Amino acid sequence: MKAALQPKPTEAPATSSPLQLAREDLLRLEPYRHAAWEPSLERLHANELPWRPLGDNSRSGLNRYPEPQPRQLCEKLAALYGVDKDQLLVGRGSDEGIDLLVRAFCRAGRDSVMISPPTFGMYAVAAHIQGAGIVDVPLRLDTDFTLDIGQILDRWREVVKIVFVCSPNNPTGTLFAASEIERLCVELDGKALVAVDEAYLEFAQSPGVRGWLRRFPHLVVLRTLSKAFGLAGARCGTVLAHPDVIGLLRRMIPPYAIPSPTLEAALAALESPARVIAARRVEEILAERQRMASALTQSAAVQRVWPSAANFLLVRFREVDRVYAAARAGGLLVRDVRGHPDLADCLRLTIGTPEQNDRLLAAVNTA
Ligand SMILES: *Cc1c(COP(=O)(O)O)cnc(C)c1O
Repeated sequence: MKAALQPKPTEAPATSSPLQLAREDLLRLEPYRHAAWEPSLERLHANELPWRPLGDNSRSGLNRYPEPQPRQLCEKLAALYGVDKDQLLVGRGSDEGIDLLVRAFCRAGRDSVMISPPTFGMYAVAAHIQGAGIVDVPLRLDTDFTLDIGQILDRWREVVKIVFVCSPNNPTGTLFAASEIERLCVELDGKALVAVDEAYLEFAQSPGVRGWLRRFPHLVVLRTLSKAFGLAGARCGTVLAHPDVIGLLRRMIPPYAIPSPTLEAALAALESPARVIAARRVEEILAERQRMASALTQSAAVQRVWPSAANFLLVRFREVDRVYAAARAGGLLVRDVRGHPDLADCLRLTIGTPEQNDRLLAAVNTA
């Protein structure tokens, strides 16, 4: 079993297998043996009911267990993200990918993840659940929330198994320089996974870092259909990584992880008519982001609008309580991020429809 997980000699100039960082006990994990997937035969092997439930219009029938790691979806996502099928794991949102990575690489009570706050909250939550530690290396305030590469490298210890980098970063909107992420990959090679969460990449007009997967066996990229593809409710995210890492995560993920309705929604979203509409909508969000950023910058209620490469803006207000209340009174919910010490008086505003954005501007200006 273990031998199959060693990197093939043909793999890129790997200095070491990323599995050297994984929990050793999991390398011998016997995965759950799910019912065989042979769609040409009739299923009397999985204890399902032979009839569909009332009102079930799904293609495959909700009475049936779904295909584990559905082949067609994996192929489409591999094409979308420009990787091979063995470099990709599909799960219920990137959240599942984050959870699996932390569980696979961090021994409870011993290992840690490194994060750069203010950033996405799930990295810390997943670490807590696993019993892993959290090493905080805050983003640099003096340079508008750039990564503190020096501190990240200085504070790395052997127990730090994963360094999470969220780019574009939630909630600041910052797209980190490719050269900085590259430096992390070079310096941390063999020391820690560098997990780059690119949930908002489609709004950044940047190719992202997935092109380096062969060069850096310790690089992991997280992508999702939740944001630019408008499928947050379907729960479909992808981990892109070295085939050894993917192989380990595949043995850990629950056997029927992708529900059939999610599979069908994701497949439809990846057909060309839906892709054209999704691309147009991203363009519209970018135009609205630009319009909102200028209007907010000119508003007397606003102290600061940070540049954003995502579908939201981080904004510091003069009287943030009044703005938050005015937005609510106008029927609009915005994200209160003031809990973070570096984000005093700040709100995170998601870019909505032009009409919603106008209402938000009106609320800001009357607050
Ligand atoms: C929204 C978001 C995700 C997406 O999570 P899903 O589980 O795929 O919906 C991942 N990372 C960041 C930073 C996010 O903001």
